[in-house]
Amino acid sequence: MRRKLVAGNWKMQGRQESNAALLQALRLHEAEWAGVDMWVAPPSTYLLQVAEMVRGSAIGVAAQDVSGAGDGARTGEISAGMLVDCGCKAVIVGHSERRTFGLELDGVVAEKFAKAQEAGLVPILCVGETLAEREAGVTASVVQRQLDAVLQLTGVRALAQAVVAYEPVWAIGTGRTATPEQAQEVHALLRACVAREDAAVASGLRILYGGSVKAANAPALFAMADIDGALVGGASLDAGEFVAIARAARAAQ
Ligand code: PEP
Repeated sequence: MRRKLVAGNWKMQGRQESNAALLQALRLHEAEWAGVDMWVAPPSTYLLQVAEMVRGSAIGVAAQDVSGAGDGARTGEISAGMLVDCGCKAVIVGHSERRTFGLELDGVVAEKFAKAQEAGLVPILCVGETLAEREAGVTASVVQRQLDAVLQLTGVRALAQAVVAYEPVWAIGTGRTATPEQAQEVHALLRACVAREDAAVASGLRILYGGSVKAANAPALFAMADIDGALVGGASLDAGEFVAIARAARAAQ
């Protein structure tokens, strides 16, 4: 059985005071979501604060990005080893906002994935199509290409220690969610791609859905066979919403 995971991507939002209030509320309600995994991904400036505040709780800390290089001459970048040193257990790689605004290509994302794993972090690999790609009917080939870039660099066994997030770009921060059926179709396709190379890895792989997940739509998404949780942006900044999403994950487990 795949344990459900809800991961909150705070993006470029938060201050020490609001972070503390949010984490206190998540911890206060821990009994309601116990049994599922909950990770939060604050901006890197707050990783140490968050790691300190979640100590002794079941909340895990993830970073939002990592360098594809090791320690050294990369001004402004943060290495995987530094993230581990700051208390991270996971890191998001290939988020569509990095692919779009940071112009990250598949090969760069794959290098980040590999560097994260080498350091002992769990990469959360984001894949997803734009609206134009969905309308052109190329969703399947886009997400397969994004996944393949990682598989070619690291091999399929690397996915045994990773998480994949299907995030249709048109659903991120737009309030427009993929229907559970649309999401399930892509999740099943991704799992089948992995299964062609290793059935055991595919059946253990957690594939999260991301894109305007809220307490109201989470139960229907989590009811789908291949949806193992959610990567949540906006709603993860609201403790009540995020706890309700985690409760829905627990109920679906
Ligand atoms: C995200 O940023 O990964 C995301 C899914 O955002 P939102 O939930 O706000 O659509």
